[in-house]
Amino acid sequence: MRFPRKTRQGCRTLPTHTARKARASVAPRQALSVRSTALLLCAVAAALAVWAPGASCIEVRAVAHVHTTWSSGTLTPMELARLARRRGVEAVFLTDHAAVTATRGLAPFENLLAVSRELPSVLPDEAATYLEALREAQEATGVFLVPGMEVTAHAEWSGLCVQGMRRHIAVLGLHDPRAWADLPVPRNFGLLHLSTVPWFPTTVALAGAALAGAVGRAARSRPGRWSAAAMVAVNLAAAGHLLLSPATPWPVQGPAARRAGWQPYQAVLNAVRPFGGLAFWAHPDAVPAPRSAKAGPVRVTLEDAPYPEALLKTSGYVGFEGLIGTATPSLAPGGTWDQAIQAALARGSEPPWSLACQDFHSDSESGGWLGEFLVVLRVPESTEAACLEALRRGEFYGVRCSKTDALTLPEFSLRPSGSGVELQAAVGSRTPEPVTVSLVRDGALMETVEGETPLRITRAVAAPLGRATYFRLEVRGPQGLRLVTNPLVWPARVPQAGAS
Ligand SMILES: [Zn+2]
Ligand SMILES: [Zn+2]
Repeated sequence: MRFPRKTRQGCRTLPTHTARKARASVAPRQALSVRSTALLLCAVAAALAVWAPGASCIEVRAVAHVHTTWSSGTLTPMELARLARRRGVEAVFLTDHAAVTATRGLAPFENLLAVSRELPSVLPDEAATYLEALREAQEATGVFLVPGMEVTAHAEWSGLCVQGMRRHIAVLGLHDPRAWADLPVPRNFGLLHLSTVPWFPTTVALAGAALAGAVGRAARSRPGRWSAAAMVAVNLAAAGHLLLSPATPWPVQGPAARRAGWQPYQAVLNAVRPFGGLAFWAHPDAVPAPRSAKAGPVRVTLEDAPYPEALLKTSGYVGFEGLIGTATPSLAPGGTWDQAIQAALARGSEPPWSLACQDFHSDSESGGWLGEFLVVLRVPESTEAACLEALRRGEFYGVRCSKTDALTLPEFSLRPSGSGVELQAAVGSRTPEPVTVSLVRDGALMETVEGETPLRITRAVAAPLGRATYFRLEVRGPQGLRLVTNPLVWPARVPQAGAS
């Protein structure tokens, strides 16, 4: 489906290229003041808990969770960017796999006899070339290709079956090639991270003992013989350690792996921020079919289960991929997402946002098409930095489009009214569509509204003093049309740049 760039339905929006031209034609000082005014107006809108793109904000259509030929996708970055431009998609958040390796050793000689399974992925020494390829495609097409990665933080073995290989974290907005080497992705624990390798001290001891033995033999004295005996003993101990220690550097098997729990995932979430990345739990509701793959001479299977509890067991992530595919149990009123929102608000932190995602690999009828799931971002200006900031602040909504239509959200706002708030929502579409709107408040279904687009809903709601309350909307239409908003929290807080 093509999305017109000039006439974005339902919002008074400057087309992106027109806005760019307009900005280019004003003097730098004036441009700066226009920009700060727009930022201020956007912040004020956020403080009022308002989704209403207009003079101060524009909408950018983006797709998130996209693979290229650099990992498991079928399109090169250039082909992808051209396709995005044809579909009216202005920003693509890429999530090519970071290095993914699973190694299985034969106990007790895990370090000597092992099979490895590596999935196509961007390796640390390829990161700079990868970023360059994205830059070239972006310059040629004008579509923001925002680099990122999909991370397998941990996996464990049960027999010849790997569990957790497809339990993923999507990190969006990574521009520093060092992220590919330094984030705690299992493959990245190589010889360059000697302190993490348990056998390193043993190796040093071994070399020291060998030196002592050589000196002792050279002396041909009684102490020399003692040194030689010590050398043999230390060598034997070191060899035993090397042979019998669990497979390093990634404890994918044995008690160490089972004890790890959520720790390896939390380690990735904690490490992302210094690189400026935004971490989202990827497809936690997905039920991937078991898959088998050849790893050397043996056949191993990949088994994975849904992991919505990740939203409650970990922290430091910006959101999760809620609107992806057709089964979305976490989005149900009172489901895992609402529980996570309530837990975050109780802590006084920003709630987790729900991202609409594609997990795009190729453009086909069976595997989905680029633009089927869209993230509509509200930004003060059409720049990559503004798009990332909107993602961080939850200034976006997600839609699932049909080939001929897409739902839009011209307004979703909360304003003070008497002793409570007034909720206003407007839902649009290209042609009139019958829709069902679910209003969710604090994790419970407040009301269901049936109607036809364009549809406007106004409700006066009592809001208790001194307690945060939130509202969110979900809209369903024919042919799989869907729209999922992020929660609007009341009383609203002014988002702090750089805070989370
Ligand atoms: Zn994935
Ligand atoms: Zn993926």
